[in-house]
Amino acid sequence: MNDDQLLRYSRHILLPQIGIEGQERFRRAHALVVGAGGLGSPVALYLASAGIGALTICDHDAVDLTNLQRQIMHRIDAIGAPKAESARRTLAGINPEVRVTALTERVAGARLEALVRDADVVLDCSDNFATRYALNRACVAQRKPLVSGAGVRFDGQIAVFDLRDARAPCYHCLFPESGENEDMRCAVMGVFAPLVGVIGAMQAAEALKLVAGLGATLNGRLLLFDALTTEWRTVRIARDLACPVCGNRAAV
Ligand SMILES: [Zn+2]
Repeated sequence: MNDDQLLRYSRHILLPQIGIEGQERFRRAHALVVGAGGLGSPVALYLASAGIGALTICDHDAVDLTNLQRQIMHRIDAIGAPKAESARRTLAGINPEVRVTALTERVAGARLEALVRDADVVLDCSDNFATRYALNRACVAQRKPLVSGAGVRFDGQIAVFDLRDARAPCYHCLFPESGENEDMRCAVMGVFAPLVGVIGAMQAAEALKLVAGLGATLNGRLLLFDALTTEWRTVRIARDLACPVCGNRAAV
Protein backbone atom coordinates (compact mmCIF):
# COMPACT_ATOMS: atom_id res chain seq x y z
CA MET A 1 0.00 0.00 0.00
CA ASN A 2 1.26 3.49 -0.81
CA ASP A 3 1.11 6.47 1.57
CA ASP A 4 -2.24 7.69 0.24
CA GLN A 5 -3.77 4.25 0.69
CA LEU A 6 -2.39 4.00 4.23
CA LEU A 7 -4.07 7.34 4.98
CA ARG A 8 -7.32 6.56 3.17
CA TYR A 9 -7.76 3.27 5.01
CA SER A 10 -6.13 4.32 8.30
CA ARG A 11 -9.35 3.94 10.30
CA HIS A 12 -9.62 0.35 9.11
CA ILE A 13 -5.94 -0.35 9.64
CA LEU A 14 -6.27 0.88 13.22
CA LEU A 15 -8.74 -1.92 13.90
CA PRO A 16 -6.79 -4.97 15.06
CA GLN A 17 -9.38 -7.28 13.44
CA ILE A 18 -8.66 -5.69 10.04
CA GLY A 19 -5.20 -4.11 9.95
CA ILE A 20 -3.15 -4.02 6.74
CA GLU A 21 -3.78 -7.71 6.13
CA GLY A 22 -7.58 -7.31 6.23
CA GLN A 23 -7.44 -4.21 4.05
CA GLU A 24 -5.40 -6.18 1.50
CA ARG A 25 -8.10 -8.85 1.54
CA PHE A 26 -10.72 -6.22 0.74
CA ARG A 27 -8.51 -5.02 -2.13
CA ARG A 28 -8.15 -8.51 -3.57
CA ALA A 29 -11.91 -9.11 -3.47
CA HIS A 30 -14.45 -8.76 -6.26
CA ALA A 31 -18.08 -8.06 -5.33
CA LEU A 32 -21.04 -8.56 -7.64
CA VAL A 33 -23.89 -6.17 -6.80
CA VAL A 34 -27.18 -6.90 -8.56
CA GLY A 35 -29.40 -3.83 -8.41
CA ALA A 36 -28.32 -0.18 -8.19
CA GLY A 37 -31.40 1.09 -6.35
CA GLY A 38 -32.27 1.63 -2.69
CA LEU A 39 -30.21 -1.30 -1.39
CA GLY A 40 -27.53 -1.22 -4.08
CA SER A 41 -26.78 2.43 -3.28
CA PRO A 42 -25.48 2.01 0.28
CA VAL A 43 -23.99 -1.36 -0.64
CA ALA A 44 -21.90 0.05 -3.49
CA LEU A 45 -21.03 3.28 -1.65
CA TYR A 46 -19.70 1.41 1.39
CA LEU A 47 -17.92 -1.33 -0.56
CA ALA A 48 -16.17 1.30 -2.70
CA SER A 49 -15.30 3.66 0.14
CA ALA A 50 -14.05 0.72 2.22
CA GLY A 51 -11.65 -0.29 -0.54
CA ILE A 52 -13.10 -3.36 -2.22
CA GLY A 53 -10.80 -4.14 -5.17
CA ALA A 54 -13.40 -4.69 -7.87
CA LEU A 55 -17.12 -4.13 -8.03
CA THR A 56 -19.47 -5.20 -10.79
CA ILE A 57 -22.84 -3.48 -10.62
CA CYS A 58 -25.81 -4.51 -12.78
CA ASP A 59 -29.08 -2.70 -13.30
CA HIS A 60 -31.16 -2.51 -16.46
CA ASP A 61 -33.04 0.59 -15.34
CA ALA A 62 -32.51 4.35 -15.67
CA VAL A 63 -32.58 6.94 -12.87
CA ASP A 64 -35.83 8.85 -12.42
CA LEU A 65 -36.97 11.52 -9.99
CA THR A 66 -38.91 9.08 -7.76
CA ASN A 67 -35.64 7.19 -7.09
CA LEU A 68 -33.82 10.09 -5.43
CA GLN A 69 -35.84 9.84 -2.18
CA ARG A 70 -33.85 6.71 -1.17
CA GLN A 71 -31.38 5.69 -3.90
CA ILE A 72 -28.61 7.87 -2.51
CA MET A 73 -25.97 6.94 -5.07
CA HIS A 74 -27.76 8.88 -7.83
CA ARG A 75 -27.76 12.63 -8.35
CA ILE A 76 -30.17 15.01 -10.09
CA ASP A 77 -27.90 15.22 -13.12
CA ALA A 78 -28.16 11.43 -13.58
CA ILE A 79 -31.92 11.48 -14.19
CA GLY A 80 -32.53 9.66 -17.45
CA ALA A 81 -29.10 7.98 -17.39
CA PRO A 82 -28.59 4.24 -16.77
CA LYS A 83 -28.36 3.53 -13.03
CA ALA A 84 -25.26 1.37 -13.46
CA GLU A 85 -23.45 4.24 -15.24
CA SER A 86 -24.61 6.74 -12.63
CA ALA A 87 -23.26 4.37 -9.96
CA ARG A 88 -19.89 4.12 -11.70
CA ARG A 89 -19.61 7.92 -11.86
CA THR A 90 -20.49 8.43 -8.19
CA LEU A 91 -18.14 5.68 -7.02
CA ALA A 92 -15.27 7.05 -9.12
CA GLY A 93 -15.76 10.38 -7.32
CA ILE A 94 -15.26 8.68 -3.95
CA ASN A 95 -12.64 6.03 -4.63
CA PRO A 96 -11.15 5.92 -8.14
CA GLU A 97 -8.98 2.93 -7.19
CA VAL A 98 -11.96 0.58 -7.24
CA ARG A 99 -12.35 -1.18 -10.60
CA VAL A 100 -16.05 -0.66 -11.29
CA THR A 101 -17.79 -2.51 -14.10
CA ALA A 102 -21.22 -1.05 -14.90
CA LEU A 103 -23.65 -3.35 -16.70
CA THR A 104 -26.93 -1.93 -17.97
CA GLU A 105 -28.72 -5.21 -18.45
CA ARG A 106 -31.10 -7.61 -16.77
CA VAL A 107 -28.64 -10.39 -16.01
CA ALA A 108 -29.81 -13.99 -16.28
CA GLY A 109 -28.80 -17.41 -17.53
CA ALA A 110 -25.24 -18.19 -18.58
CA ARG A 111 -24.31 -14.51 -18.32
CA LEU A 112 -25.31 -14.46 -14.66
CA GLU A 113 -23.45 -17.73 -14.02
CA ALA A 114 -20.27 -16.22 -15.45
CA LEU A 115 -20.60 -13.04 -13.38
CA VAL A 116 -21.12 -15.06 -10.20
CA ARG A 117 -18.15 -17.30 -11.05
CA ASP A 118 -15.88 -14.23 -11.26
CA ALA A 119 -17.06 -12.80 -7.92
CA ASP A 120 -15.91 -13.53 -4.37
CA VAL A 121 -19.16 -12.33 -2.83
CA VAL A 122 -22.59 -11.69 -4.34
CA LEU A 123 -25.03 -9.05 -3.08
CA ASP A 124 -28.66 -9.39 -4.00
CA CYS A 125 -30.03 -5.85 -4.07
CA SER A 126 -32.74 -6.65 -6.59
CA ASP A 127 -36.46 -6.02 -6.24
CA ASN A 128 -37.95 -9.15 -7.79
CA PHE A 129 -38.17 -12.86 -7.07
CA ALA A 130 -37.07 -14.02 -10.54
CA THR A 131 -33.67 -12.36 -10.01
CA ARG A 132 -33.42 -13.57 -6.39
CA TYR A 133 -34.00 -17.19 -7.40
CA ALA A 134 -31.64 -16.97 -10.38
CA LEU A 135 -28.89 -15.44 -8.22
CA ASN A 136 -29.38 -18.10 -5.56
CA ARG A 137 -29.15 -20.93 -8.11
CA ALA A 138 -25.93 -19.46 -9.52
CA CYS A 139 -24.43 -19.01 -6.04
CA VAL A 140 -25.29 -22.61 -5.08
CA ALA A 141 -23.76 -23.89 -8.34
CA GLN A 142 -20.60 -21.78 -7.95
CA ARG A 143 -20.40 -22.08 -4.14
CA LYS A 144 -20.28 -18.34 -3.60
CA PRO A 145 -21.48 -16.46 -0.51
CA LEU A 146 -24.78 -14.66 -1.11
CA VAL A 147 -25.84 -11.62 0.92
CA SER A 148 -29.54 -11.13 0.41
CA GLY A 149 -31.45 -7.97 1.30
CA ALA A 150 -34.99 -6.70 0.84
CA GLY A 151 -37.02 -3.74 2.02
CA VAL A 152 -40.50 -2.44 1.38
CA ARG A 153 -42.79 -0.12 3.37
CA PHE A 154 -41.21 -0.16 6.86
CA ASP A 155 -40.13 -3.82 6.75
CA GLY A 156 -36.61 -4.93 5.96
CA GLN A 157 -34.76 -8.21 5.98
CA ILE A 158 -31.23 -9.45 5.49
CA ALA A 159 -29.77 -12.95 5.36
CA VAL A 160 -26.44 -14.51 4.47
CA PHE A 161 -26.07 -17.84 2.68
CA ASP A 162 -22.39 -18.76 2.81
CA LEU A 163 -22.57 -21.40 0.12
CA ARG A 164 -18.83 -22.05 0.32
CA ASP A 165 -19.97 -24.26 3.21
CA ALA A 166 -21.84 -27.32 1.90
CA ARG A 167 -23.95 -27.40 5.08
CA ALA A 168 -25.30 -23.88 4.58
CA PRO A 169 -28.97 -23.41 3.66
CA CYS A 170 -29.78 -21.49 0.47
CA TYR A 171 -32.34 -18.77 -0.28
CA HIS A 172 -34.69 -21.38 -1.73
CA CYS A 173 -34.59 -23.39 1.55
CA LEU A 174 -35.92 -20.23 3.24
CA PHE A 175 -38.39 -19.08 0.58
CA PRO A 176 -39.37 -22.06 -1.61
CA GLU A 177 -40.33 -21.08 -5.13
CA SER A 178 -44.07 -21.61 -5.20
CA GLY A 179 -45.11 -19.42 -8.05
CA GLU A 180 -47.17 -17.49 -5.51
CA ASN A 181 -44.47 -15.11 -4.35
CA GLU A 182 -45.70 -11.75 -5.47
CA ASP A 183 -43.22 -9.03 -6.10
CA MET A 184 -44.02 -6.12 -3.84
CA ARG A 185 -43.15 -3.23 -6.05
CA CYS A 186 -41.90 -0.06 -4.40
CA ALA A 187 -43.86 1.77 -7.07
CA VAL A 188 -47.14 0.75 -5.47
CA MET A 189 -46.15 -0.23 -1.92
CA GLY A 190 -44.00 2.72 -0.89
CA VAL A 191 -40.74 2.43 0.99
CA PHE A 192 -39.36 4.38 3.97
CA ALA A 193 -36.13 5.94 2.73
CA PRO A 194 -33.74 5.08 5.59
CA LEU A 195 -35.02 1.49 5.72
CA VAL A 196 -33.04 0.53 2.62
CA GLY A 197 -30.07 2.46 4.01
CA VAL A 198 -30.09 0.36 7.18
CA ILE A 199 -30.41 -2.94 5.33
CA GLY A 200 -27.95 -2.01 2.56
CA ALA A 201 -25.29 -0.84 5.03
CA MET A 202 -25.61 -4.17 6.83
CA GLN A 203 -25.28 -6.06 3.54
CA ALA A 204 -22.03 -4.20 2.85
CA ALA A 205 -20.76 -5.02 6.36
CA GLU A 206 -21.53 -8.71 5.91
CA ALA A 207 -19.85 -8.79 2.49
CA LEU A 208 -16.65 -7.22 3.86
CA LYS A 209 -16.66 -9.69 6.77
CA LEU A 210 -17.12 -12.60 4.36
CA VAL A 211 -14.22 -11.65 2.07
CA ALA A 212 -11.82 -10.89 4.93
CA GLY A 213 -12.93 -13.68 7.27
CA LEU A 214 -13.91 -11.24 10.02
CA GLY A 215 -15.97 -12.21 13.05
CA ALA A 216 -19.15 -14.26 12.73
CA THR A 217 -21.40 -13.54 9.78
CA LEU A 218 -25.16 -13.83 9.51
CA ASN A 219 -24.74 -17.15 7.70
CA GLY A 220 -27.84 -19.28 8.26
CA ARG A 221 -29.78 -16.50 9.97
CA LEU A 222 -32.46 -14.10 8.75
CA LEU A 223 -32.80 -10.71 10.44
CA LEU A 224 -36.15 -8.96 10.21
CA PHE A 225 -36.29 -5.23 10.88
CA ASP A 226 -39.44 -3.25 11.62
CA ALA A 227 -38.54 0.40 11.20
CA LEU A 228 -41.87 1.53 12.69
CA THR A 229 -41.27 -0.11 16.08
CA THR A 230 -37.46 -0.30 15.76
CA GLU A 231 -37.55 -4.01 16.53
CA TRP A 232 -35.20 -6.66 15.16
CA ARG A 233 -36.04 -10.36 15.06
CA THR A 234 -33.63 -13.19 14.28
CA VAL A 235 -34.83 -16.38 12.62
CA ARG A 236 -32.56 -19.39 12.20
CA ILE A 237 -32.71 -20.79 8.68
CA ALA A 238 -32.87 -24.56 8.49
CA ARG A 239 -31.39 -26.30 5.49
CA ASP A 240 -34.13 -28.11 3.54
CA LEU A 241 -32.58 -31.49 2.69
CA ALA A 242 -35.20 -31.90 -0.06
CA CYS A 243 -34.49 -28.43 -1.49
CA PRO A 244 -34.53 -28.76 -5.30
CA VAL A 245 -31.78 -26.14 -5.60
CA CYS A 246 -29.21 -27.11 -2.95
CA GLY A 247 -30.46 -30.54 -1.81
CA ASN A 248 -28.06 -32.55 -3.96
CA ARG A 249 -24.88 -31.01 -2.63
CA ALA A 250 -22.56 -33.47 -0.95
CA ALA A 251 -22.34 -32.80 2.77
CA VAL A 252 -18.79 -32.03 3.86
ZN1 LIG B 1 -31.71 -24.85 -0.57
